[in-house]
Order: sequence, then structure tokens, then C-alpha cells
Amino acid sequence: MHVVLPNVQVVVADLGHVGPDGIQAAQARVGEIRGLLGLDGRQAQGGGASGTAFADVLAAQLQPTASPSAPVEGSSTVNEQGYANGLLPAEVLAPIGQSGDALAPNAARAFDAMKVAAADAGITLSVNDAYRGLDRQQQLAAQLGLYRDGGRAAVPGTSNHGWGLSVDIATGNGTLGWLRQHAGRYGFAEDVPGEPWHWTYRSDTSAT
Ligand SMILES: [Zn+2]
Repeated sequence: MHVVLPNVQVVVADLGHVGPDGIQAAQARVGEIRGLLGLDGRQAQGGGASGTAFADVLAAQLQPTASPSAPVEGSSTVNEQGYANGLLPAEVLAPIGQSGDALAPNAARAFDAMKVAAADAGITLSVNDAYRGLDRQQQLAAQLGLYRDGGRAAVPGTSNHGWGLSVDIATGNGTLGWLRQHAGRYGFAEDVPGEPWHWTYRSDTSAT
């Protein structure tokens, strides 16, 4: 079957790491759901009400871990390797320090270089959090509330922690000043207002 609805293509992309079999299975499921919705033979209109309802039902059916708190918005992208935010397997992450925290490999390399430079300046970069899985993002959203509601958490599935690009660094003892002066050289930016501990790796062309 040929899927023409743009919304549907976004949802299928949400499946992340799917091989040919997975795509076939998804397409079969699309056909089944179209049948349930009585869409067969009807010309789907992009952005129309039936298209939206279709996409919603499809999303619910295809959620690999369908839970009531599963993210609805912001989860429509995957990284270059096809993994969804917060669902990165360990093999595409690299540890930083001894704490069990990890970042995407490029970010981890840049962080390690930055940590060495900081140490040379007498500054210890102490990591409080780095890669954050979807479960933890959901937990924090429940605890802290969402940014858009005046809280302090990203919509689960959208945090840069979920891509392994953000790291939370203890800011005391002159660390924040050092970071503001030097982190940019390593590709890290202070990118969330009111969260001076939160630094996000943005560049593959960091100094070495
Ligand atoms: Zn953070």
C-alpha cells in the first residue's frame, strides 16, 4: 500500500531503528488501521481531520512501549543513526568520567578535552547528569513540570540530554566562570536560560 499522508510518514519515522521487515510490518499495520477507520477508498486529504485522527490512532497502535505518559509531541525525529531521543543504546554512547554518565561520542571526546583543560586551570568539572533516557525524562517532567508550564523540564523525548549532547556540570568554585570563558572552544554552549549548569555540545569542529 502506498502511504500518502505526511503525518503518517512522521509517525513511521518514530519507530526509529526499523529494518525492511519492520517497515513491511508497519505498512501492514497501516492498512489494518485504515480499514478500522473506514478510510479505504477515500481520498486522504493532507492535514484534514481524518488524516489527523488516522495519524493519532496509528501513533497509538505503533508505540513500541505504549504507556499513558508516552510523549505525544516533539518525538518525531531520530538521530543520524535512526535512534529516537532517549532511546539511544549503550553502543552509541561514550562514558565520561567514572560516574556512569555518558554522552554521544563526539560530545564525550569534546567534554574529555575540556575537562583536561579545566584541570590544568585548577578547575574540576563535576558531572551531575549527561545522557538521559526517556524514562528519566518522563520522571523529571512529572517532578519538575514542563518549561512551557513554568516548570524546569523539557517535554519528554525532546531534551538534548536525550541525544547525549547536554551535560549538567556543577557550577561552584569558579567553574561557571571558567566554562563561560572556555567551553565554547570545545563546542559547548550554555543554552537554557536560568540553568547555568546545563551545557550542550553543538559543534563537531571543536578545538582539540
Ligand atoms: Zn541539563
